[in-house]
Parts: sequence; C-alpha cells; structure tokens
Amino acid sequence: MLQELKDLEPFRADVRAWLAANLPADWQDKMRGASEDEHVAFQKFWFRRMMEGGFGAPHWPKAWGGGGFSFAQQIVLYEEIARAGAPRLILYFIALHHVPATLLEWGTEEQRRRHLPAVLSGEEIWCQGFSEPNAGSDLASLRTRAERRGDRFVVNGQKTWSSNAHHAHFCLLLTRTDPKSSKTRGITYFILDLKTPGVTLRPIKQITGASHFNEIFLDDVEIPAENIVGQENNGWAVAQSTLSSERGLTILELAERMRVGFELLLSDAQSPAPAGGRLIDDDEIRRRLVDVHVRIQALRFLVNEMLMQVLRGGKAGVEPSIIKIYYSELLRDFTALGVTIGGAGAQHLQAVLMGGGNETGYWMQDYLYSWAWTISGGSTEIQKNIVAERGLRLPREPQPAGAG
Ligand SMILES: Cc1cc2nc3c(=O)[nH]c(=O)nc-3n(C[C@H](O)[C@H](O)[C@H](O)COP(=O)(O)OP(=O)(O)OC[C@H]3O[C@@H](n4cnc5c(N)ncnc54)[C@H](O)[C@@H]3O)c2cc1C
Repeated sequence: MLQELKDLEPFRADVRAWLAANLPADWQDKMRGASEDEHVAFQKFWFRRMMEGGFGAPHWPKAWGGGGFSFAQQIVLYEEIARAGAPRLILYFIALHHVPATLLEWGTEEQRRRHLPAVLSGEEIWCQGFSEPNAGSDLASLRTRAERRGDRFVVNGQKTWSSNAHHAHFCLLLTRTDPKSSKTRGITYFILDLKTPGVTLRPIKQITGASHFNEIFLDDVEIPAENIVGQENNGWAVAQSTLSSERGLTILELAERMRVGFELLLSDAQSPAPAGGRLIDDDEIRRRLVDVHVRIQALRFLVNEMLMQVLRGGKAGVEPSIIKIYYSELLRDFTALGVTIGGAGAQHLQAVLMGGGNETGYWMQDYLYSWAWTISGGSTEIQKNIVAERGLRLPREPQPAGAG
C-alpha cells in the first residue's frame, strides 16, 4: 500500500465510526419493495445526512461546497461506504458527477451559481438526455433538432433510456443545431428545465419490474439561448467532459461491494438447502464459487493497480474499459450462481431493493439487472473497440460515410 493511504488510517477510522453511527441499520428492510416516493424520500434523507457528515460530495471543490478530498481520501471513503453496505446515491448520480464535470469546465458563472449550490442542498435532481432510439453507441448520429429563433431555441425530438428523469428537475440535453455539418460538429448542449411546456416523460418498465429510466418526448420545447453549455455547435466536446466523469471511483465502490456480496453468497451456499437449491457439497457449486472468488480478487487487483497509477501521477488509459468488461461479465456469472444456489425461492422475482448495489442477495433481480451493465456507459463491444484501437493500436473499424 502507498504511504499516502497508510497515513489515512485515522481518516478511515473516522469514516467507519461515522457510518456506524449514522447509517440506519434497517434501511434495507425499509427499501425492499419500497414505493418510488419512499425511495426518493430516503435518498434525499441519506444525501442530506452524508452532506452533514461532510461525505456527500467528496470530489467537489471546497469553493463550491464540496469536500475537496484528495484522490486517496476518496479511495478510503468509497471502500468504507461499500464495506458498510450503505445505499448508493443513485438518484443524485448525474447531479453529483456529470453536472459538476460539465459546468465547472464549460458552464458560465451564472449557470454554476444557479445550479451547483442547489445540487448540494439536495434541491435539484438531474438526468441525462443523450441517447435516442437510433443513437446510442453511435451517439453522434443523434437527431433531436434545436432551431434558433432569436434568443431562444425550439427543440423537437425524442430521447430514451434517461435514468431517473421522472424524478429530475433538469436534464443535460444534446441536440442537433446544424444538420449540414459533419456528425460531431453540429451538436449543441443545453440545460433543459423539465417543467418546460412540450416535455413529456414516459417511464419504461424493466424486466425487474422497476422503472428506472424513461423516454423523453420534446415537442416545440423552447429553451433560452443562455442555457447553452459551451458554445453553439460545440456540444460534442462538452459531452466528452460529461462522459469522462462516468469512469471515476465508482468502479472501486462496485468492486468492494462485490467482495462483501461474495460473503453473502458463501453463507447462502452453507445454509440449510432451500427447495431446489444447491449447496457447497455439490462439486459444480464449489467449482463456480472458487471461480467467482478468484475473479473478484483479480478485479480488485485490476482496480487497485489503476488507482495506484493515478495516485502516482499517471493517467488511466484504457484500463477503465478493461475493468468495465471484466466487471460486467463477472457480475453476470456471480449473480447467476446466486440464483442457482437459491433454488426455487430465487427463481421468482423478489421485491426490488431500492438504492441497493448490484449484489444485494435478491439474486434473480441482481442477475437480471447485471445485463444492464454490459450496455450502460458504453457496451461491452464498444469497450472492446476502445481497447483494440486506443490500447493495442489495431486498425480503426471502418466509419460509415459522413461520420464526423
Ligand atoms: C441501465 C442503463 C442506464 C442508462 N442511462 C442512460 C441515461 O441516463 N441517459 C442516456 O442518454 N442514456 C442512458 N442509457 C443508454 C445507453 O447509453 C445506451 O443504451 C448505450 O449507449 C447503447 O446504445 P443502444 O442501447 O442504442 O444500443 P446500440 O448502440 O444500438 O447497440 C446495439 C448492439 O450493437 C452493438 N454495437 C453497436 N455499435 C457497435 C460497434 N461499432 N461495434 C461493435 N458492436 C456494436 C452494441 O454493443 C450492442 O450490443 C442507459 C442504458 C442503460 C442500460
């Protein structure tokens, strides 16, 4: 371990003690099968409490009300959050990560003053309106059109898969303003107030029964020009700042949560057998348990290696893509094993644990959701393209004509 991390042992003890004193012990019981309103209320409560403890926005600069934590402090904090099995602040994910990464680099002073304090007070929840029915991996082919009319823009089009838009107040919106330029050049980035007339949200019901994301329909929606982030037609560059914030320390938290989740799986495998369940006296189960255990350790080493590289002043290259591929495949096999061990009881869909991690012990739900990880934040195939082209310097895949 680096000296920098060793020196943080007193800080680790403080975080651990704070979590022990402040995390409601029964939060999982309360959030299992909770309604959307109960989920939102609990997320707000937990965010407020984390802010009071000084841990709600560790990566934000102090000047904007954040913790101004060093990278090493953030590593320790996320390890402890995962270890304690605290809720994930998923409702505030875009507001806490994507919004500051975007506005601090590209926003006007007025935009920062209006929105950043409101995020930290818990008042503003945000969503991201990038993907469209025909623009996901190939985001630059987005078609939602924004036309200038004096000091306003009139927007028409459709966004999809927008996580938590049904709880959000504002949206980070990508539109096409110059259809004649090459794909990446004619894009403009806006802040959209979701209360604007012409905005219609439709939640999408998932296979788990939850409705985590939404379609957003935009019909003659007027957005003032002052809501442009960056410059007109320069939205592609702004979007890169937004997306870069997705590949932060979240992965460390996920790897730690998986280590903790494995203990749960191991204990399930040694409990009295549920109907149709299979336990550690079964050779195949033993083999799969060891396989998952070895891969969790390997994941932790990979994540650790990447973090140490950054701590030593280097940059994470294609490692986040490698880790994302590895994590998603491991999560799928890990949760599938939970379903096998759980037998008949794990075959049906238990109530969703709102705000839980990805390995909550509700194995069928966890397993079904694990597939989302092979798609969100850039699918496995796209990550492989990144590793091939940027990491191994293999020839680029052919671009369709007109690609910018
Ligand atoms: C849980 C979750 C949350 C999300 N939240 C948001 C959100 O808040 N806001 C938002 O804007 N979007 C969000 N998304 C959407 C996400 O960004 C897209 O689903 C993702 O970019 C893939 O796009 P697509 O679904 O259109 O699939 P497509 O791009 O159509 O891909 C279909 C298949 O083709 C493969 N493929 C595509 N291109 C290539 C290629 N060049 N080479 C090899 N294979 C390829 C893909 O890997 C995939 O298997 C979310 C998605 C998920 C799963």
